Amino acid sequence: MKNIFDYTLEELEKLFVAVGFKKYNASQVFDWVYKKGVLDFSLMSNISKNLKSFLIDNYSLDLLKISKVIRDKKSSKYLLELSDGNKIECVLLKHDYGNSLCVSSQVGCNMGCAFCESGRLKKVRDLSLSEMILQIVTVEMEECIKVDSVVVMGIGEPFDNFEVLKRFISVVTCPYGLEIGQRHITVSTCGLVPKIKEFALMNTQVNLAISLHASSDEVRNKLMKINRAYPIREVFDALDYYIFKTNRRVTIEYVLIDGINDSEEDALNLVSLVKGKLMYVNLIPYNETSNFTFKRSNEFKINKFYDILKKNGINVIIRKNIAGGINAACGQLRAKESA
Ligand code: SF4
Repeated sequence: MKNIFDYTLEELEKLFVAVGFKKYNASQVFDWVYKKGVLDFSLMSNISKNLKSFLIDNYSLDLLKISKVIRDKKSSKYLLELSDGNKIECVLLKHDYGNSLCVSSQVGCNMGCAFCESGRLKKVRDLSLSEMILQIVTVEMEECIKVDSVVVMGIGEPFDNFEVLKRFISVVTCPYGLEIGQRHITVSTCGLVPKIKEFALMNTQVNLAISLHASSDEVRNKLMKINRAYPIREVFDALDYYIFKTNRRVTIEYVLIDGINDSEEDALNLVSLVKGKLMYVNLIPYNETSNFTFKRSNEFKINKFYDILKKNGINVIIRKNIAGGINAACGQLRAKESA
């Protein structure tokens, strides 16, 4: 039985018209599900008996099963079970300015970044639209909150699941759907150049973040396999194109790993890549895990790296790891469960 969360509004409109119902019935169903939180077709009082029966006979409204939640003051990490038994993660961060949810896009990931728990667990499959949307809906219902912003930065490479990502953005931003503004969505990629260009052509206001993590091909080739296919120059050409098309600022994510990518030379290389561009840099002290030998850079090195960028006029922050204590680096909880 197909899940109703597997449809965008346009897809549901087409489906309803094709089977003899009205186009506006789709926005009615969306309104019940996404606005009123009603997960029972029989309670949707303004739709006809025939439509109710059609929906009850053919569609489900199942949420994702919650396998585990780890909470601290400002964050909750969810391990969610899919209908085929696979598990994914999402992380809710409660900021002063609102609730942000980091969602997964695939079961595992094939990009094989050397420091990443998700990459250790190879890609099993892409997530469906419902499996992406239901991370938000399930957490909202469980926590009795509204998610204000969404970051597609959990397990998986979102641009490797591009068609579903586009439909996901459509439901998240839909006025009858989750109604989260485009500027409150961020998609993070490890650098799939052709998809960055395709994303630019979508001409949305959705934010783009790039997991860079190294400022020379020599270092990035070691850390991120994708760099051998799309080296740094090509990634930055694609980012320039994205900025030209959208006039949106790009976030450069840079995890600082001791002795690997945190030297003065690394910082200066990064300056030359970013300087004068509509980009800002997020420095992220590495979140150590038991499965890797990588170590977090010490405070002195982190501050020095930051100072070099700052002195050269780069917009930069050091991101506080508010969810580190609950294994919030992507894939850590799932990796632990399956270990
Ligand atoms: S960092 Fe992102 S792209 Fe790289 S392996 Fe992990 S989940 Fe995949």
